[in-house]
Amino acid sequence: MLFDMRPKTRREDLFDRDPELKKFNDSLPHAALIVVTGLRRTGKTSFLDVALSCSNHPYVIVDVRDLPTVPSRAEIIKKVDEAFNKMDKKWKTPVSAALKHVKGVYLAGASITFGWDKKGIDLAALLDEIDAWAKKNNQLFLLAFDEIQLVRGDKYLPRLLARIADTNRNTVIVITGSEVGLLYDFLGFDNPESPLFGRHFVEISMSSFTSEQSKEFLKLGFKQVDIKCPDEVIDYAIEKLDGVAGWLTLFGLKSQESKTCTKEVVDETLDVGGRLARSEALKIAKFSHRYGLILDFLAQNGEKPWSAIKDVLDANEGRKVTNTAVTELLNRLIKTNVLMKVNGNYRISDPILTHGLQREPLCRS
Ligand code: ADP
Ligand code: MG
Repeated sequence: MLFDMRPKTRREDLFDRDPELKKFNDSLPHAALIVVTGLRRTGKTSFLDVALSCSNHPYVIVDVRDLPTVPSRAEIIKKVDEAFNKMDKKWKTPVSAALKHVKGVYLAGASITFGWDKKGIDLAALLDEIDAWAKKNNQLFLLAFDEIQLVRGDKYLPRLLARIADTNRNTVIVITGSEVGLLYDFLGFDNPESPLFGRHFVEISMSSFTSEQSKEFLKLGFKQVDIKCPDEVIDYAIEKLDGVAGWLTLFGLKSQESKTCTKEVVDETLDVGGRLARSEALKIAKFSHRYGLILDFLAQNGEKPWSAIKDVLDANEGRKVTNTAVTELLNRLIKTNVLMKVNGNYRISDPILTHGLQREPLCRS
């Protein structure tokens, strides 16, 4: 079913993404690190789940979403522990058996527990053992982290990842991130001080669907739920929802719920989506009122150059904001993928966020 809000886990529920899946599979034998990037709701988690489960290799997905921003080593180990326990049964039994002599690994029935205190597990040693097992069994071990840029703090994770990339030849790290700039900062690809500096990686980008793909997506989805949707409504939805898989899915689901397929349902999707996107932007605006001002301005006025944005900030504060401060604010918004730069102008990346801010700005005037 296409019209299901949960991330897709089965190939038959994932629309298209054939070239991306091919790139993923082709990269596996030689890549140490694969990075899946894309705006929110373009389908990174769905792609990750499907690509891993179709790979025919053992894998774990470490879910970092509810970790604190600066997690302790023990908290990271608990997440890795959870990920191992969710491993496909087919792989869990042989992998667990291979780990039984590793210090800090406790096996009881079908569950694995990692000791996380000082005398507990050493993740590097654990991963060495799995890598050796993978090599012996002619396998690759895929270690995935979804939205890893949410984790900050000390360099424990990037150091661990660099070590794996250097020494564990049968292990592939797969990472996703919506906030590409922050992701690259976290990994430190451009930072000579970082353990992952200059490292080769394969990037797979989850782009938005083209108009043709969006049309096909909606037609197929409506066929699956046996709803007739007039072409003009489909065209309207494509125009408004900008090829973002998550918004197309939401529209389909809303039509299914209301058993009608009209432009009003598209508008309702825009409103619901706009509020959701706005609430996410609000988290950024809480860091500084200036982010809110910039986003509100661009939502009302479309794409604008640096100088126009500076004028708005100056006018609002009744004094000159420094050039460096303006550039830093804009760079930060680009790093979190909220803004993009097009022909020297700045623009909000997701038109649904624009819609949400037009209806309700972030800052009260
Ligand atoms: P992301 O991780 O990039 O935020 P998700 O994988 O959570 O995106 O997908 C967002 C929504 O869109 C979910 O409801 C998911 O089911 C749907 N979706 C994303 N990509 C596809 C796809 N290729 N085919 C079908 N549904 C998709
Ligand atoms: Mg996701």
